[in-house]
Amino acid sequence: MSKFDLPARLKGNEKSVWVEYIQLALQYKPLNLGQGFPDYYAPKNVTDALVATANSDNPLLQQYTRGFGHPRLVNAIAKLYSKVINRDINPNQEVLVTAGAYEALFVTLQGHTNPGDEWIIIEPFFDCYVPMVQTAGGVPRFIALKPKSTTSTISSRDWVFDRKEMESLFNEKTKGIIINTPHNPVGKVFTLEELQFIADLAKKWNTLVVSDEVYEWIVYEPHRHIRIATLPGMFERTITIGSAGKTFSVTGWKIGWAYGPSNLMYNLQVMHQNTVYTCSTPIQEAVAIGFELEMERLGQPECYFHSLAQELLPKRDYMAKFLSEVGMVPTIPEGGYFMLANWTSLENKVKLNEETDKYKDYRFTKWMTKNVGLQGIPPSAFYGPKHRHLGEDYVRYCFIKKDENLKAAADILKKWASK
Ligand code: PMP
Ligand code: GLN
Repeated sequence: MSKFDLPARLKGNEKSVWVEYIQLALQYKPLNLGQGFPDYYAPKNVTDALVATANSDNPLLQQYTRGFGHPRLVNAIAKLYSKVINRDINPNQEVLVTAGAYEALFVTLQGHTNPGDEWIIIEPFFDCYVPMVQTAGGVPRFIALKPKSTTSTISSRDWVFDRKEMESLFNEKTKGIIINTPHNPVGKVFTLEELQFIADLAKKWNTLVVSDEVYEWIVYEPHRHIRIATLPGMFERTITIGSAGKTFSVTGWKIGWAYGPSNLMYNLQVMHQNTVYTCSTPIQEAVAIGFELEMERLGQPECYFHSLAQELLPKRDYMAKFLSEVGMVPTIPEGGYFMLANWTSLENKVKLNEETDKYKDYRFTKWMTKNVGLQGIPPSAFYGPKHRHLGEDYVRYCFIKKDENLKAAADILKKWASK
């Protein structure tokens, strides 16, 4: 054991599906339906706002801004969420701007975890939740969403958790539960009943709820996004997380936020002020301008919070169609821009033994990237150690892509499947 080995608290978290698959994409140059980002222009009003900020006659827009969030942005965020959750949010005490939703999750979990605290995590989960809990000294406790069918096309609504099992995970060591709705990678939009069930347990056991809602505006009709913070007695115990990257289709901007009651936000502020301290000023200014415009047209069809899902709906349906045509079994997402598909009926067309990974979905996605030229993400990366096998039969594809690239993906798959 050398003095410069990885510290014990980081061990077990060496592997990252993103690091591995982004490298793979750079090396093999497949059509990339892996990492979630649009391959087309972001809304012009938002990028124009950044240009205007860069050229502003206010020189201070290129300098440090307030640590807990640029005033114009925290005001916009507080104004918007006060409206959508129907309660006054204090911009200075109940909002924190962060380096992406990643940092919001990080400061939440660092700021609210004592050694041995348990966090309930619903599988499949956005992969960083686990290393963030563990490096904070916490203990993840897992419960899996399970599909009602694996052989016929289903809705993401058909991926459900067992209520008895959920109940059995709560105990006096539980610090909180992390939920993600609309969900990555399943696309599930949690129902009122499901959220109420979780909320009742959180109240019964006096726990926190961390609600990762980065896809809050990407919900397909007739489904509705419900913010757990709006359920009775829940604002007091909920930290809600959002992302400008997802909200305005600018994933490279890496601005996120958390909002919640000031006593809970205080812990996040302490962590943030001693790590990141303050985020990029011009990007925050541009995001604020973006919010201000959308607030003026909230509820109208041209509001981006509405039009983005409209724009993605035909892409979702097109992907579901071509995946079914080649023999995969997709789960139709109610929200977000990912689709899970069961690929096992095509197993005889893949040489899984040419890859060495333990889990079949890793072998499938790597083989497809190298030999067929199409990249997806292996969902077993989104499970805890005991349940990884539950993700093995699936692949996750991203559909916020140009129509021509979705068509190219369909052609690649059809050509391969018909061989
Ligand atoms: N949570 C979920 C569920 C995500 O899919 C992502 C990826 N955007 C994040 C958090 C992190 O978001 P950001 O890029 O704003 O850090
Ligand atoms: N949230 C995005 C995804 O799931 C990006 C992940 C990342 O960049 N680490 O694809």
